[in-house]
Amino acid sequence: MGRFADLELKHYAEPERGDRIDFRDGALCVPDEPVVPYIEGDGVGVDITPAMKSVLDAAVTKAYGGKRRLAWWEIFAGEKAMNLYGTAIPDDSFAALRYFRLGIKGPLTTPVGGGFRSLNVAFRQVLDLYACVRPVRWFDGVPAPLKRPQDVDMIIFRENTEDLYAGIEWEEGTPDCLKVIRFLKEEMGATGFRNDSGIGIKPISVTGTKRLVRMAIRYAIDHNLPSVTLVHKGNIMKFTEGAFRKWGYEVAAQEFGDRCVTEEQVEKDFGGKVPAGKIVVKDRIADAMFQQILLRPSEYSVLAMANLNGDYISDALAAAVGGLGLAPGANMNDEIAFFEATHGTAPKYAGQDKINPGSLILSAVLMLEHLGWQEAADLVVTGLERSISRGVVTYDLARQREGAQEVSCSRFARSVVESM
Ligand code: NAP
Repeated sequence: MGRFADLELKHYAEPERGDRIDFRDGALCVPDEPVVPYIEGDGVGVDITPAMKSVLDAAVTKAYGGKRRLAWWEIFAGEKAMNLYGTAIPDDSFAALRYFRLGIKGPLTTPVGGGFRSLNVAFRQVLDLYACVRPVRWFDGVPAPLKRPQDVDMIIFRENTEDLYAGIEWEEGTPDCLKVIRFLKEEMGATGFRNDSGIGIKPISVTGTKRLVRMAIRYAIDHNLPSVTLVHKGNIMKFTEGAFRKWGYEVAAQEFGDRCVTEEQVEKDFGGKVPAGKIVVKDRIADAMFQQILLRPSEYSVLAMANLNGDYISDALAAAVGGLGLAPGANMNDEIAFFEATHGTAPKYAGQDKINPGSLILSAVLMLEHLGWQEAADLVVTGLERSISRGVVTYDLARQREGAQEVSCSRFARSVVESM
């Protein structure tokens, strides 16, 4: 029996160093040497994961001397797992993430043919990681289509488990599809359905919405952020998107009434001035939100939205500040936080020490913040900012910028460390 008595592993050896993070009275308790399960990732995972680890180790050492360190522990998914264990995600990987409540991963190839439909989706579903968290900000020196990209500093909370992604669809012409159409017409009085339609159904629930909005508001409170915006298409889809808006406001009023005010209250009760210490909860229709991203980004901070809107807005916002190469992300629930590079495996660059490790490094910054290790997180961000603004960058940024010094993936990581 090892140190972690109730961690039941079938194949993996227990981590040799480190301790488990814990919760006490709802608060995260972080040991000085937390076990960090990590998945290297397919394709360029071999390049970006070591780069990310080296940057984090340097930042933690610089911030805390020897007092704190990360106990990296490799777990497996994707091609490496297939080769070693004959399955794309061994049960041990799920067990490890559940037990240590933390993890970080490189990109994974979506398997073609049988097995999991998508490994990323499998992690979200099996572990019920109900929120996809995507901060978006601009780094000085990154070419961006927006006039004032420095005004973008937002964090998106995207619901991860329902909406159209629940996958309830029927193909046009199939007996099941015709049966659904018949039911809708004959029993539910629906009109406007053609018999040659395909059908999709989206569920949006009280539970799914409230837990997501709750997490977004808590984040705003914990990080002293000014507002939470509920993004929806409730003008058209009243009982799904409109309900998302309604339930979101309910959470704000019922659970955070002492900290939150609505835009309406600010106007009516406080003469248009937000009272000190309050977070403004507001809502925007999704299409208007796309305009706001471009026209008035400085007015938005935390955004909460259902799955499909979140999919569109995350990528649009990342593009507005110069692309996905530097976009970090995490999938979370109330217990587990699983951080990831948001880009894919970029197979043509695999093993070439060429690709930009920025997305995974910034995801690791989120992980440090989650652990409460803000000093180390700040060091990494400073290192990245300085390296990029000095023009010491990987090929993707170098090709967009005259006079930049193109460096390899590992050299960029060293430059980040040297710039801390
Ligand atoms: P991709 O791997 O993201 O690569 C597409 C292109 O984006 C690359 O060729 C490269 O552009 C650029 N790029 C991606 N990451 C970059 C980085 N770190 N630095 C600089 N440039 C970067 O997308 P894909 O080719 O569509 O997908 C490949 C595989 O990844 C698929 O199996 C897909 O399913 C999987 N995937 C996994 C995840 C995940 O694990 N989270 C996410 C998306 C896709 P240039 O060629 O212009 O240099």
